[in-house]
Amino acid sequence: MERMQHVIARARAAFNSGRSRPLEFRIQQLKALERMVQEKEKEILAALHADLHKSGPNAYSHEILGVLVELALVMEKLPSWAAPQPVKKNLMTMRDEAYINFEPLGVVLIIGAWNYPFVLVMQPLIGAIAAGNAVVVKPSEVSENTAKLVAELLPQYLDRELYPVVTGGVPETTELLTQRFDHILYTGNSAVGKIVMAAAAKHLTPVTLELGGKSPCYIDKDCDLAVACRRITWGKYMNCGQTCIAPDYILCEPSIQSQVVENIKATLQEFYGEDVKSSPDYERIINKRHFKRVMGLLEGQKIAHGGESDEASCFIAPTILTDVSPDSKVMEEEIFGPVLPIVTVKSVEEATEFINRREKPLALYVFSNNKKLIRRVISETSSGGMTGNDVLMHSVLPDLPFGGVGNSGMGAYHGRYSFETFSHRRACLIRDLKMEVVNKLRYPPGSQEKVDLAKFFLLKHCSHSRVGQFISALLGAVKAVMAKIFSP
Ligand code: NAD
Repeated sequence: MERMQHVIARARAAFNSGRSRPLEFRIQQLKALERMVQEKEKEILAALHADLHKSGPNAYSHEILGVLVELALVMEKLPSWAAPQPVKKNLMTMRDEAYINFEPLGVVLIIGAWNYPFVLVMQPLIGAIAAGNAVVVKPSEVSENTAKLVAELLPQYLDRELYPVVTGGVPETTELLTQRFDHILYTGNSAVGKIVMAAAAKHLTPVTLELGGKSPCYIDKDCDLAVACRRITWGKYMNCGQTCIAPDYILCEPSIQSQVVENIKATLQEFYGEDVKSSPDYERIINKRHFKRVMGLLEGQKIAHGGESDEASCFIAPTILTDVSPDSKVMEEEIFGPVLPIVTVKSVEEATEFINRREKPLALYVFSNNKKLIRRVISETSSGGMTGNDVLMHSVLPDLPFGGVGNSGMGAYHGRYSFETFSHRRACLIRDLKMEVVNKLRYPPGSQEKVDLAKFFLLKHCSHSRVGQFISALLGAVKAVMAKIFSP
């Protein structure tokens, strides 16, 4: 406990020293982070392989590339994001300076999850540094090799006091959560999300919760099934199904179910060959606990493909389940493994009803040649994000916010949204001490004339260009009217 308090007190003292605030310092730290990723690439890839059996190319493209792209974007855009943002003024404030000032929140806690253990701590860290905060990083203990490496590397490259790493499991995270932070970004399951939020509430600390859930995938029968199934297979079985926005289950009409199965089977063959187990591109389940949990979901189900497993190596083959009952166990909880249930529905209406009866998902996927149908599903449902005619891809576009809604989370990050998540938008209005005659409008004694004038001032908004044109004429008129009203 004392050690934890000491780490946070040191981070707070470093933040209070003001050194994390200048833009040059933030960019210098981000550059150091970039150097770390480039120089320690081999070590990072090795840790990801040890934790999740990720191959070099997969680990690079899923975890390292995204971090480098985010760093490049943030370093380029930070000066414009961090600049004071002028806002539209009204007649009462047209002579004033009115702007939003983005200021750091203070000491931020980032709690990572194990499924993309590197990118899930690095990406929020980049945003929190960019916004000028001190950051306590808590990687997931479940992916222990990556956690150990992050704890070793960050202090070699970054300011040690401002950006400490705390390792450990549930007891350490529980202890951390008793401390006061200025923002917490947690990635993980919804049950722990509630624990994090309750702990944060004790200090009125705002939270960003990046949670999970069952992300549905509707396939319309007017669709190129070969292309749709290739894209779905890629997103579902990547990282052995352990992706928060993986399509969790398929909804389609009974008439296309067997074609969907055949197309996914053909793609699996194309991606992983005859022997999936020996494919370098196929990952493993993180640990025995999750292995048993995922295998338990297969009980009583009709396995159309896959189902093979090896507990010793935490291998579960890519599996497809057909004619799955909506009430079965596999349709209750997020699968988070390489098991793809197909639930048949009679129509797109039934699909949207099915989706809307459940918790709001983190992602939603719709495949159809008919873009109108896709837009209709968007307008009739809700989810954290969505992609039409593909999967996962909305999460890699930095101009789109990444986050959940309802049970799948709150708040968002990535790119500019990370910067904003870790900043306070301070409302700034700077006036001068002249034109006191105008201010008499808001001082006692009240009168109907004053109310009428206030209505005139506040209900009529002016654009900057119009203000430019009319300012002097208007001010002259206002002054004359005010002088008349307030003359003794
Ligand atoms: P996990 O077990 O790694 O837990 C995440 C963190 O929570 C860890 O750092 C751990 O120390 C801490 N923790 C666990 N139990 C705790 C407790 N009782 N009290 C306090 N802290 C505790 O990760 P997980 O929850 O198994 O992750 C999988 C889930 O995360 C899935 O639901 C997945 O969809 C979701 N996820 C979401 C995103 C996203 O960006 N929205 C990304 C990845 C994973």
